[in-house]
Amino acid sequence: MSYLLLQDLDKRYGATPVFSQIECRIAQGEFITLLGPSGCGKSTLLRCIAGLAEVDRGRIMLDGENITHLPPQQRHIGMVFQHYALFPNMTVAQNVAFGLRMQQTPEHETTRRVGEMLELVELQSYADRYPRQLSGGQCQRVALARSLVTRPRLLLLDEPLSALDARIRRHLREQIRRIQHELQLTTIFVTHDQEEALALSDRILLMDKGSIVQNADAETLYTAP
Ligand code: ADP
Ligand code: ADP
Repeated sequence: MSYLLLQDLDKRYGATPVFSQIECRIAQGEFITLLGPSGCGKSTLLRCIAGLAEVDRGRIMLDGENITHLPPQQRHIGMVFQHYALFPNMTVAQNVAFGLRMQQTPEHETTRRVGEMLELVELQSYADRYPRQLSGGQCQRVALARSLVTRPRLLLLDEPLSALDARIRRHLREQIRRIQHELQLTTIFVTHDQEEALALSDRILLMDKGSIVQNADAETLYTAP
């Protein structure tokens, strides 16, 4: 059972605190939205969980393992950013295969899993295209497939829809929710868009100025006075 525990996390840049005393437990298969205004520390918190930045204090436990100081590639965490950082000179299939190649996965296994992932994000017929030949929404689906192909224990989504127009955004968020449900993936979705948070998640962590100020199910938050 994969679950995430954040225990008393602090992070500063120089003398400036970014967040402090972050406490949270996320259960296997849960879809959590981290909602808060721009600059409140959401991205930095995700980056610390992924191992792209270091916390100054506290512990990050994943499946009972202390991952606080593990290098990113040993955490088995998938991440998608706002600006899909796809490799421009690799095809869609090569982009998706990248993580498996790094692990020296046998070729037949790679082909099978890349095929599975392309099917999951409904891009089977785009395997040989290059990112510049795709729309923004399609690029984000490739980024999602690329982050899932190595079967991460946890999926972190940092405003993955923010750069897209409204219609695509709605379609893609439904697709993300379907995939998350199908794979029973423990997921943290970061957004500053309240409507998106309410539409997507079972539970919302409300963050403000570096603290989690509310931890509630979507319905409670919505009906709160
Ligand atoms: P959010 O994702 O909620 O918009 P961020 O985590 O990006 O917030 O940023 C939180 C605060 O930390 C901001 O004030 C930002 O300027 C600051 N910050 C983020 N990254 C760095 C960094 N590498 N160096 C210094 N300050 C940073
Ligand atoms: P190479 O990088 O060796 O030239 P390709 O560009 O053909 O190989 O493909 C990159 C990776 O993606 C390979 O591991 C391949 O098995 C896989 N792949 C390519 N096309 C497809 C596809 N249509 N369905 C599934 N996997 C694919």
